[in-house]
Amino acid sequence: MDGASVADLGKRLHGSLVTPGDPGYDEARALYNGMFDPRPAAIARCVDPEDVRAAVAFVRGTEVDLAVRGGGHSGAGLGSVDGGLVADLSPMRDVRVDDAGIVHAAGGALLRDIDAATHAAGGAVPVGILGTTGIGGLALGGGVGNLTRTLGLTIDSLVGADVVLADGSSVRTDEDHEPDLFWALRGGGGNFGVVTSFRFRMHPVTSVVAGPMLWPIDQTPEVLSAYREFIGAAPDELGGYFVVLVVPPVPPFPEELQLTKVCGVIWCFAGPQDRAGEALAPMRAVGKVALDGVTAMPLTALQSVFDPLFPPGDQWYWRTGFVREIHDEAVAVHAEFGARIPTPKSSMHLYPVDGAAARVRPEDTAWAYRDARWCQVILGVDPDAANTELVRSWAVGYSDAIRPHTMGGGYVNMMMAEGDALDRVHGSYRGNWDRLVRVKRAYDPENLFHVNQNIPPG
Ligand SMILES: Cc1cc2nc3c(=O)[nH]c(=O)nc-3n(C[C@H](O)[C@H](O)[C@H](O)COP(=O)(O)OP(=O)(O)OC[C@H]3O[C@@H](n4cnc5c(N)ncnc54)[C@H](O)[C@@H]3O)c2cc1C
Repeated sequence: MDGASVADLGKRLHGSLVTPGDPGYDEARALYNGMFDPRPAAIARCVDPEDVRAAVAFVRGTEVDLAVRGGGHSGAGLGSVDGGLVADLSPMRDVRVDDAGIVHAAGGALLRDIDAATHAAGGAVPVGILGTTGIGGLALGGGVGNLTRTLGLTIDSLVGADVVLADGSSVRTDEDHEPDLFWALRGGGGNFGVVTSFRFRMHPVTSVVAGPMLWPIDQTPEVLSAYREFIGAAPDELGGYFVVLVVPPVPPFPEELQLTKVCGVIWCFAGPQDRAGEALAPMRAVGKVALDGVTAMPLTALQSVFDPLFPPGDQWYWRTGFVREIHDEAVAVHAEFGARIPTPKSSMHLYPVDGAAARVRPEDTAWAYRDARWCQVILGVDPDAANTELVRSWAVGYSDAIRPHTMGGGYVNMMMAEGDALDRVHGSYRGNWDRLVRVKRAYDPENLFHVNQNIPPG
């Protein structure tokens, strides 16, 4: 990048341009996943769509890589790029709810911004489980969380978006305008443009009965076998993801449980509160529950409960897969690797994606795994970079052992850059791949947006 054109970009931005040597450069380039430490040549801190257009114009027709950063949470470090330009949307966090109950969220908003604004307006959008994640990456990849069984994926509530395209234009897309683009945005990641504003339908959920129900790790076979049958037969209003984890060493967890390995379910019941006890009774009767923390709470309390435990900068190694059935052999693998969790922050989650999410057809959005019943993620996590190999080898071993019991492919938002890029991304889209490639060719034929789980134009 030549200095004069970088300086010119800086002058054109309404926001600021941060380059190496500037005060704040290290802070501006830091990613959530401490495993990645890229040094971009410049960071355009965008405050409006015009700034985003200026960043896109800057790289168009050049060899300069453009990374688009929303919340910076990408497990694969895709919110930045070595030596390139970052269009950093983090200053664009405005969220408002209009009179028709449509949530307008700027492209750099965090989930906690959306949770707060919708809660104040008497509702919710189904998003992910951590408030610090960006809506940009999360929504474009699909979005699973506490309310997926009840309300569907995040993309199932998306009704429109404003997008800056590779040719520098801005378009408004929804079911009736640029419908191919709207289809591709719902699961296809950041491949098609930069979303400067999302529009979501809000749902009338404000309070839930929720929290962890935990058992000692040696009860994993019994608990997981019961859970796999139970959750599939439960009404949509009950969600709950299965976990193996280490009890955090903080209150309100009882001291005798802290730092012990457990299995369990993080429940979220969004129906009438007086029915929650009856709905959960069969699981309470399984084995010997070590901790039952399920209680009535505002949805925002559940949505933010894990935020303090996972500050930015930890090392995260991710492996993902989709699951249709949890056979006994798979239960045994979870029991084995659950007992060998290497560090206190490492875990495995099985998010149910049946219920409301499964009533959308695979071809209706780019998200292709509507027949999966769970989205599985194995997370090797530790604050200390010296433990990177420890968490990586556990996650890889676990993932390799469980792979024969998964459907192939994986959730693009929970992937590292492992293996062959084309195979990895292709496997995530199955029958939707050809249409995604056609839409990519139409909207980004030069692959300007390639710092992502990339769908090449051909
Ligand atoms: C701690 C943690 C918890 C998580 N929990 C969940 C969860 O509960 N459910 C779930 O579904 N996922 C979850 N994820 C995964 C998460 O969805 C992805 O990491 C997602 O990409 C994060 O989005 P971001 O905007 O924060 O990331 P970034 O790193 O900023 O961006 C990720 C990708 O999205 C693109 N992108 C971001 N914003 C835009 C935009 N406005 N326009 C176009 N492209 C954009 C980027 O270019 C990049 O390719 C979690 C991740 C972490 C680290």
